[in-house]
Amino acid sequence: MKKIVYLIAFYFLTLSNTFACIGSNGEHKGIDSVQNTEGCGISATENVIVNPQILLYIIIALVLWEFILTKVLGYLNYKNKSPELPEELKEIYDEEKYAKSINYENTKYKFGLISSVFSIIITLAMLMFGGFGWLDSFVRDFTQNPVLLALAFFGIISFVQTIIGLPFSYYSTFVIEEKFGFNKMTKKLFFLDTIKGLILSSLLGGGILALVVWIYSIAGDNFWLYAWGLMTFISVFFMMFYSSLIVPIFNKQTPLEDGELRDAIQKFSNKVGFKLDNIFVIDGSKRSSKANAYFSGFGPKKRIVLYDTLIKDLETEELVAVLAHEIGHYKRKHTLQMLAFSTLQTWFMFYVFGLALSFPEVSLALWATEGSFHIGSIAFGILFAPISIIMGLFASILSRKNEYEADEFAALNYDAEKLISALKKLSRNNLSNLTPHPAFEFFYYSHPNPLKRFAALRNVKK
Ligand SMILES: [Zn+2]
Repeated sequence: MKKIVYLIAFYFLTLSNTFACIGSNGEHKGIDSVQNTEGCGISATENVIVNPQILLYIIIALVLWEFILTKVLGYLNYKNKSPELPEELKEIYDEEKYAKSINYENTKYKFGLISSVFSIIITLAMLMFGGFGWLDSFVRDFTQNPVLLALAFFGIISFVQTIIGLPFSYYSTFVIEEKFGFNKMTKKLFFLDTIKGLILSSLLGGGILALVVWIYSIAGDNFWLYAWGLMTFISVFFMMFYSSLIVPIFNKQTPLEDGELRDAIQKFSNKVGFKLDNIFVIDGSKRSSKANAYFSGFGPKKRIVLYDTLIKDLETEELVAVLAHEIGHYKRKHTLQMLAFSTLQTWFMFYVFGLALSFPEVSLALWATEGSFHIGSIAFGILFAPISIIMGLFASILSRKNEYEADEFAALNYDAEKLISALKKLSRNNLSNLTPHPAFEFFYYSHPNPLKRFAALRNVKK
């Protein structure tokens, strides 16, 4: 714990150092300014088209705008809950469970508020006091190689981020989830997960980052096209091998055991033409009592994964109904559709990214002394936020449409009522919020509200 405090103190110390340095001329000067102190500010260049100072204001405004937008949505959602058990939820919750679900939602809401205020203070301080520019010149003391620069820059940022985030995720797991009876994680597993996550993101994230920066340093104007090609290849690769390469680092996956459930599933998968050896059980119970199931991959690498907690909570027929829903995702080609959608999204994103990187002012806005990939991409990430929110909205709309289609498949080929009863149990056990504010639901829900799914399921004509 002490170590974490030191690191946070160090983090702020470095910020105030930068402030002191830039404080010599009072304020953040734009690139058309000639009063910059050597080595502290921004080099003077004649340019009136893209002014780094104005860009910085835009960046800060966007960070604040996104913060306010998410807080307003969260507040609307928070206020949308009735203290009494609503009539339409009586088929899912009793008074006691409903009160518990409200309490759970409110606890998470308040905790989220504290952690997001904390994180926006750090972000704003980094932007206003030149934290990113300081880190940029700090790593430049060690190397000039663009790949190593980017690795060091993002390595330090993500390490500090993990350390700062640690107390928050610890509290969320061992206080909030624990209080509501969801947490099954030991402290040892928590730290093991954190360390594995750090190693994995350094190797994988670092490897991909190094490749992209390398392409950037040799490809010139066509960088975005090559980077997009590489990212598409990588995402297809991980969509196929995620279950066999990444999941085993954190979980054990086992084929379905012999017995009543396997027989029932076998019968159904034979009927709709899905191979049984693509169905696995995962030991989700070592972390949380919450239950789930998902479909991943495509082609020969497709698989359906059922949580052991799901098998414990549901009856055989309900499990087959959930499985039918997952097979529905496969049969309606949802993974391919999502892949096509996200490939299109990244194509557009890399195109704009390439454009942004061609303006060194984008880096200068964050107090860097020269344009670079790593600092330019941080500025770009913030400038692109409004577009990525809109793209996220489309992804959620598409995802909700797909959920209805998978439900319909389950209703047509198996049994709508069994799926409804499975979803009821899942919602109850996970203390799901079933009365989200419509705006919050529109923005964030990847699955339609269960009540809407029930209505749609009951409407399917066989
Ligand atoms: Zn689904």
